[in-house]
Amino acid sequence: MKKTVVTGYRTTGKLHLGNLLGNMLNMLDLQEKYKCFFFFANLHALTTDYRDTSEIMNNVKIQLAEFLALGINPDKSVLYVQSDIHEIAELTLYLSMITPISRMQRNPTYKEQLKELSNKDIKMMGFLGYPILMTSDILIVHADYIPVGEDQLPHIEITRELARKFNKLYGKYFKVPKELITKAGRVPGTDGRKMSKSYGNAIYLSDEPDVIKKKVRMMITDPERIYKTDKGHPEICDVFYLHKSFSKEEIGDIEKECKNALIGCTQCKENLTGKISNYLSDFREKRAVFLNDTDYLKKVLEDGKNAVREITIETIKQVRYRMKLVNS
Ligand code: SF4
Repeated sequence: MKKTVVTGYRTTGKLHLGNLLGNMLNMLDLQEKYKCFFFFANLHALTTDYRDTSEIMNNVKIQLAEFLALGINPDKSVLYVQSDIHEIAELTLYLSMITPISRMQRNPTYKEQLKELSNKDIKMMGFLGYPILMTSDILIVHADYIPVGEDQLPHIEITRELARKFNKLYGKYFKVPKELITKAGRVPGTDGRKMSKSYGNAIYLSDEPDVIKKKVRMMITDPERIYKTDKGHPEICDVFYLHKSFSKEEIGDIEKECKNALIGCTQCKENLTGKISNYLSDFREKRAVFLNDTDYLKKVLEDGKNAVREITIETIKQVRYRMKLVNS
């Protein structure tokens, strides 16, 4: 029996290179080794974007088409929409009964996000309690592992605490899941900050080559390399960072050429543009095909929903039974 992995993807729309290098490549790897549950976290999207919900389901469609175009395979992984699995919401309610408010307020990510998203009115119960929703996503399918970056470890700790607390109060039932640390680095955007849709600095997987070219031209290089004759420091150059993923075979040569001033940054950026565009050309074609096949997209999500509910309906039945919420 393969071990189980679950991971949710916030429904923010089209994917960018930061998503690809930070998560998607890892997910492709995971689906070969584990039984994977990949879901579109539209309830999590509500925690910060509850006012305008008009794009949420369209974003699911785009993301699903992009997942499939990248090689996420519905025959290997279960793909579903979070809000289709009603048992997740029910379990969230039960777990919220055993979660101290102070524990949620102490969550370091909560405090950080309140600062980062100060332009949004997010002092809401749903936002405060999103680690409980996340815990339900994980426990409802009895996941063994959760792929996370180092910064998300506090959430996993909350999940473990709640699983243990439930087991202690109502009898041992839930697995206490473990983290699978992903080593994704911080992918730089076109302005040097972390690549993010909200910063407007992202190179999207669906961008056409001319758009990629314009965006790569804007990227920040070694600031000390003013003239082509100046020797460069690739280790501090954002263009080189992306070369490491897209020009793996030539990376030694690029490093040497930069350090010895044998190539200019304009040429180096042109080369990177070509590599990224080539890498994504197959993806763009498949994406267009999947986006046009709405019936197939619906079928993938329907099949995913049915497969996961075979587990979640039983889970919630067991939870109600253990919490003595059913007539005996
Ligand atoms: Fe960066 Fe390439 Fe310029 Fe070196 S030559 S600083 S790696 S863009």
